Amino acid sequence: MKILKGTKLVPGIAEGIVALYVSEIEKLLPHYSIKSSQIPVELDRLDASLRRARETIEPMIGVSHKEFRKEASEIFSVHLSILRDQKLLNDISSLIRTKRINVEHAIHDVFEDYIRGYQTKEGHFNELINDLIDIRNRLLETFNIPTGGFQSFIGESQPIIVATRYLTPSMVLKIQRRNVLAFILEEAGITSHAIILARSYGVPIVFGIEVEKELQCGMEAIVEGYKGEVIINAGKKEKEYYHRKMQRIRMRRELCEVAGTQPLYMKDRQRITMKVNVSTPDEFNAISDLDHDGVGLLRTEFLFMRGGNLPSEEEQYEIYSKLLKQTAGKQVTIRLLDMAMDKMPPYLEIPQDRKQADVVRGALAVEMFPDIYLTQVKALLRADCRGCNYNMRLLYPMVSDPNDVRTFRDVVEEAKKSLKLEGVERDFKNIKEGIMIETPAAVMMAEELLKEVDFANIGSNDLLQYTLATSRGSPKVEKRYHIFHPAIAKMLRFVAETGKELNKEVCLCGEIASFEEFYPLLLKLGLRSFSVAVSRFADIKCELLYELQNLHESSEIDMVKNFYGAKSKEEIDSFFRKFV
Ligand code: PEP
Ligand code: MG
Repeated sequence: MKILKGTKLVPGIAEGIVALYVSEIEKLLPHYSIKSSQIPVELDRLDASLRRARETIEPMIGVSHKEFRKEASEIFSVHLSILRDQKLLNDISSLIRTKRINVEHAIHDVFEDYIRGYQTKEGHFNELINDLIDIRNRLLETFNIPTGGFQSFIGESQPIIVATRYLTPSMVLKIQRRNVLAFILEEAGITSHAIILARSYGVPIVFGIEVEKELQCGMEAIVEGYKGEVIINAGKKEKEYYHRKMQRIRMRRELCEVAGTQPLYMKDRQRITMKVNVSTPDEFNAISDLDHDGVGLLRTEFLFMRGGNLPSEEEQYEIYSKLLKQTAGKQVTIRLLDMAMDKMPPYLEIPQDRKQADVVRGALAVEMFPDIYLTQVKALLRADCRGCNYNMRLLYPMVSDPNDVRTFRDVVEEAKKSLKLEGVERDFKNIKEGIMIETPAAVMMAEELLKEVDFANIGSNDLLQYTLATSRGSPKVEKRYHIFHPAIAKMLRFVAETGKELNKEVCLCGEIASFEEFYPLLLKLGLRSFSVAVSRFADIKCELLYELQNLHESSEIDMVKNFYGAKSKEEIDSFFRKFV
């Protein structure tokens, strides 16, 4: 028996046979020089390849929409637009012309160059690499070059554990959902497109394993997604142990099916609020099946990322009205447009230097693009109709002091005036206002900020990157701290305590809240309100229900052992003393 230690991504336990995906591209790529007279021929071959690749992608947009909802089809739409991009065509053709090499080789080299460019940055951009590999492979496959595949089992008829160095969106789509027991990966970014799709399979995922070195096709393995381990060739005793664990997990799920509709309470009857994060309109329908306490975060960026123009007030009004109607009676927290580097509306003209420094955020973005915010707030105020049973709250992103709050508030006041001038005669409701606490500055100013508004959401994703001077999703950070650094724990406790003193809600809405194993600590830190990804909601609520019934030391001990490597009871006690 051998235990391979990696990092967990999706919890759960699975046992089965490994199917190894091997990349073959380097071995089989034709590589030759061409004469100048042959250049037009190669350019024609490039044209044909791009056309065929686009033709193969178009049907996948529909298939992925059916299989995975809209977010998947959007991934392939992005691939399609990259294949239509003039820059890609220019880069490949100019390599063919200047280096006089065959088109397959030129495609390979251009993509290597792009990938290398992204590898030097970390974080979010890193996560585009798998999309680039996917597009490159699609182009090379038009020349019948095998880019990789599963050694023997492909999961067509038999359930398998998929082991692969990397995962691309097309690979996920090729593997039949019902035949996948688990994923073992070498590299993964929590927010990469392929991982978003793979997570929706609901099977355990572990990454950080040297797949090609450690695993072979046909090997028996157990994937332990709670600890992030892969156990190969387990003995009889170990197998029995994991079978018992799997049985307990099944029982826990059954408990949740019966009791999952109940609200959550601590043993002392303090209520725990569980809300959902909504990031695409597609999720509007999905949330109606969940027993949630409201929408804790509506990321409105999706409205600005699609199409080539700013969404009009009317378009926005329609979408906000739909969500408010669907969630009538429950809180809906709508965040004003958060312009981050990775979700910048592509058609906006932003000076290059600003884009790179990521300085078009929060109140600065309002100052730079006041009309965009004015239109958005007008649409929101109109959607929050009087007399309807709606409970809309506005959320201001990336603020760091009360002046930033006032910049946003001024837009709200202006929107009210402007609507009145347009003849929208009504008293606007006294809408609740909140802020994102997602920079160390906002943490330090938590008291001043909370006095200014009604509630706060903690955005741990950005808080982590700005606190640790790294970038979001950086594999380095994920591996070492598994997105929960002790500094973040201390900050969470500080903000939670400040909220308690001022009697203002503090809700955690970053990805940390989508990992159930952190809850023993999150609750100890004083947090009582959470907003989690739609896809994780049911599982998290279920686990929490179970934990709250049995909130016992062992879950805390497991967590500390797993994440911080503590070995003895003393080390675990001292760990908690540091934070709580
Ligand atoms: C966060 O930063 O944690 C957050 C919730 O906002 P986003 O992920 O949209 O930046
Ligand atoms: Mg954020």
